[in-house]
Amino acid sequence: MSHPSACSPEETRLREAIIHTGLETNRRGLNQGTSGNISARLGAGMLITPSGVRYEDLEPDDLVYVDANGRWLDGRKPSSEWHFHRAILQARPELHAVVHVHSVYASVVAIQGRDIPALHYMVAAAGGNSIRCAPYATFGTENLSQQAVTALEGRTACLLANHGMIAAGPSLERALWLTEEVELLAQQYVLSLQIGGPQLLDDAEMERVMEKFRDYGPRRGDS
Ligand code: 13P
Ligand code: ZN
Repeated sequence: MSHPSACSPEETRLREAIIHTGLETNRRGLNQGTSGNISARLGAGMLITPSGVRYEDLEPDDLVYVDANGRWLDGRKPSSEWHFHRAILQARPELHAVVHVHSVYASVVAIQGRDIPALHYMVAAAGGNSIRCAPYATFGTENLSQQAVTALEGRTACLLANHGMIAAGPSLERALWLTEEVELLAQQYVLSLQIGGPQLLDDAEMERVMEKFRDYGPRRGDS
């Protein structure tokens, strides 16, 4: 067991929510097998999925607590991508959950090393007028972590060249929601390239959309 001490009810709920989020990425066709990983902030550290285990096989005790210094208790290994999960949560106090997947269309765009441009107003849901693609770095490295944090500046999602994508949010629900939206945008990008290429929205329009997003939705302050 990676977490031998008894958990608070709150921590148990967070562990269950991470597993639920992972199962949802599979159910929604965003991930499969042992690809991808998920984390959520807990105290000064984070809970993260273990390395190389399918979400279907996870029990709450299997999630690994990684502290602020990147240390964990003996037992199961945290995801090989704990570097970028920790770095993102440390760099961005407003974010509390990080989802990483190898979804098909996001990966196809990332295989080209392309950013997703302002081809649809929903690009602004990730915080700007594009969704950047971080340059390639080997999985599980500090280098990939630095590239990801840079690509996420002012944004809540990015692509990882020849790899996949990261989406983050103030909650697991929002991070999962954004994961699905980014995958849809990547699909729209790939399809629009096949019929002559997208007509892009200009920066002024994307600014207007971001302003409207500030109070979009049925309730204010929803996350
Ligand atoms: P882990 O099983 O170690 O989380 O790795 C999966 C992955 O997506 C690496 O980038
Ligand atoms: Zn990966």
